[in-house]
Amino acid sequence: MTMMKGNIFIFSGPSGAGKSTVIKGLKKRITGLGYSISHTSRPPRHNETNGVDYHFVDEDTFRRMIDQGAFIEWANVYGNLYGTSIRSLENRTEKGMDVVLDIDHHGAKNIKGLFPESVLIYILPPSIEILEQRLRSRDTDDSDVIDGRIKEAVNNLKNCEWYDYLIINDNLEKAVSETKAVVLSSRCRRSRMYPFVKEMLEI
Ligand code: ADP
Ligand code: 5GP
Repeated sequence: MTMMKGNIFIFSGPSGAGKSTVIKGLKKRITGLGYSISHTSRPPRHNETNGVDYHFVDEDTFRRMIDQGAFIEWANVYGNLYGTSIRSLENRTEKGMDVVLDIDHHGAKNIKGLFPESVLIYILPPSIEILEQRLRSRDTDDSDVIDGRIKEAVNNLKNCEWYDYLIINDNLEKAVSETKAVVLSSRCRRSRMYPFVKEMLEI
């Protein structure tokens, strides 16, 4: 039997909604899930590691990579450049691994256009007030950066309409369980978890 290519699960949502936290929880609860490490020109935060959270590069290097066609998609988000390299995505999906991407709505649209089977998941905070509390207590960004991100969150919320799934991250455990169900049901649909079903039905 030939191995199917892995699928792509795209997570988007306002900064501070809990995307990274939900993805971390999901990776602990499910096997065979890779993570696409983006490149960014944003400076690293105190708790971030190069090559783990992001590949941190300066803006010149990022722009050179754009010119070289290294990115499958890239965008300017909150004033910094972020991009998904072709290598970070294809290496894993070619091996049959599912891959999670944490990217903004522009990137999500681009990837969905290229890979229509991608599953789009939007993580929402329970309220804008709680979003602000989370951003401030995360203590990773300056106050003016947080203000800008909250403004963007309000302006961009309408984009959640065209996502396949909306997950409200009020309770972390519940949010992780819901996303796990999304991934498992997608695998089932693609007959990867139950290949015998595919064989039985000859599809
Ligand atoms: P994002 O990746 O969307 O920017 P993070 O995952 O960094 O957001 O989460 C922002 C902050 O909110 C972090 O400090 C995280 O620990 C906290 N957080 C995430 N989910 C929850 C939750 N369900 N309840 C309370 N705090 C949460
Ligand atoms: P942060 O600076 O908080 O890590 O990320 C800011 C935003 O950039 C988030 O919305 C995140 O989803 C988005 N982002 C991270 N990596 C990429 C990427 O490779 N491409 C795109 N388009 N957006 C990204």
